[in-house]
Amino acid sequence: MEPLRSTSWIMMSLMLCTMQPAQAAPVGNKTKVILVSMDGFRHDYLTFVNNTPNFDRMLQEGVTMPWIRNTFTTLTFPCHFTMVTGLYEESHGIIANNMYDEDMSPRYFGMGTTVDEWWTGHETIWTSAQKAGLKAGVYFWVGSASKIEGVRPEKWFRYNGSIPFEERVDTLVKWMSEDDFDLGLIYFNEPDHTAHTNGPRGKKTLHEIERMDGILGRLLDKLTETNLLDKVNLIVTSDHGMAETDSDTKLIDLRDYVNSTLVKNVVQQGALAHLIPQPGKTQDLVDALKDVEHMRVLVKEDNTPERLHYKDHSRIQPVVLLADEGWTISENGTWRRLNMVRFLGDHGYDNILNSMRPIFVARGPAFKQNAVVESIDTVDIYPLMCHLLNIEPAPNNGSLQRAATLLRVPPRTPQPINSPTTPQPINCLSDWSTRPEVCSYLLGALFLLNRLIKYSIVL
Ligand SMILES: [Zn+2]
Repeated sequence: MEPLRSTSWIMMSLMLCTMQPAQAAPVGNKTKVILVSMDGFRHDYLTFVNNTPNFDRMLQEGVTMPWIRNTFTTLTFPCHFTMVTGLYEESHGIIANNMYDEDMSPRYFGMGTTVDEWWTGHETIWTSAQKAGLKAGVYFWVGSASKIEGVRPEKWFRYNGSIPFEERVDTLVKWMSEDDFDLGLIYFNEPDHTAHTNGPRGKKTLHEIERMDGILGRLLDKLTETNLLDKVNLIVTSDHGMAETDSDTKLIDLRDYVNSTLVKNVVQQGALAHLIPQPGKTQDLVDALKDVEHMRVLVKEDNTPERLHYKDHSRIQPVVLLADEGWTISENGTWRRLNMVRFLGDHGYDNILNSMRPIFVARGPAFKQNAVVESIDTVDIYPLMCHLLNIEPAPNNGSLQRAATLLRVPPRTPQPINSPTTPQPINCLSDWSTRPEVCSYLLGALFLLNRLIKYSIVL
């Protein structure tokens, strides 16, 4: 009888696995969520300037933390996609701003690439919201111009950096008020852009920090005018910080150490470089670079620290070079030859560096007031937003339990900290097992079945 019992267990498991989970519907009070990203806004930028009344107001009326722990690598595309998926970069696959993937067409990815397949396999917060019947609008975000799993936000725009920030704010608030959207995301490419050419402490950068405070003020004012300020849970954060650098003097010229007999291609360069070795030349390439000053050589499985969560994806090339803070890696010796002006600020460095850490501040009905809490991770933002919207999260690397420190009222069901170091396959069991209530239903059903089989055996 034992085989029958095993077979039944498997059949029951399969049956449960093929069932579709009920569509998550928002219940209880309807809440709205706005996620704001100000690119490259360092966690300590507010201490660099004196005139930030709107951030000051957010701190007084809301909750903050010393910094939010962002993912590695500290580049714009990977970090932004982490925020909206709750996945480490090796899990969602957007592992740099420039990438190479043999299975894609075209095989190279740059920041203008919107080919849907590069983003496939992962659920974003706007997808989760829309699946639950909510309305989501995105005024620029990494990935929002592509159909991910067949879905785009209800409102979205192809990226155009020349659109005034004020216009972006006004449009977002219109979506949230007149169109009654539940979720809104908005992206600003400052103060990152200015800090690259002026450095994080440059005069123009300091001015830009204060200008972004004014943009935050406009958002708060518009939400007040539309009676939404106390109904919206507003999160203001960033993708990474900004380190002082000098791309003319602190430059690692790869031509001094290797040539095309060892390197097939350099996919990404700057604070971080991805090298594709010539066939069979990986070890020779590593040997040629391992003693170069001001950088580390990371060889995927070999010596990439677990804490980086940065090895388990085919788009991470066999040899990754990570510059020391402030240094720039170039394949041809001149950063300017890449059509880039002299950089006095950059990012992409190790995420434990103080300079790479982003700001986080939030206010709204769900958040604590005038509070400073322990840092959480950027992978926690996705499950936090799902909780605020009262919808089911997709499998993710984040923890609502960690993010609960921000909330006035903790979640009813404590969530286990879920931080796997490898990508989670998006299959039925792993999907369901990350949802505690579904998991307990499954275990309960299996327990009952076991009792029934035992009973039938006795009969
Ligand atoms: Zn950025």
